[in-house]
Amino acid sequence: MTKRYKTAGRKPKPSRGGSAADQAELLRVATEAREGAYAPYSNFSVGAAVRAASGRVYAGCNVENAFYEAAHAEQAAVIAAIGAGERTILAVAIVGGPAGRPPRDAVPPCGFCRQWIFEFAPQNGDVTILGAGGSAVKRWSLRALLPEPFGPSVIRRR
Ligand SMILES: [Zn+2]
Repeated sequence: MTKRYKTAGRKPKPSRGGSAADQAELLRVATEAREGAYAPYSNFSVGAAVRAASGRVYAGCNVENAFYEAAHAEQAAVIAAIGAGERTILAVAIVGGPAGRPPRDAVPPCGFCRQWIFEFAPQNGDVTILGAGGSAVKRWSLRALLPEPFGPSVIRRR
């Protein structure tokens, strides 16, 4: 899904993933993106938004097929950003839960998506990840979620 979202486009502070307003905006875009999810098999719809180093925001949702293959929301948002010419992701917001219901719990990215995000993390490997459910917002750092990552530098060492 490639959709343009109106955002302020401010450049976030690289180390923090942006201001509180930037993070609220990222969660809003993820919530909107969730409406596009196609998840008839898992019945678990997810929207994600990523903020790239340019300050632009890109969104994605999960899309499944009858073969039980799925594109994940975070993966889709990262691909939208990279396709638009971005190369660094600073922050990610995820909103997910049973389809048709407001999210009850904050959902962290799955292992597969952690790897997708890490590929485009800044040099220090730190990406702010936000998950919203109910009235709570959880905040993780990619470094904490993905210790000892397998990334581009591992391949280049060989
Ligand atoms: Zn995932």
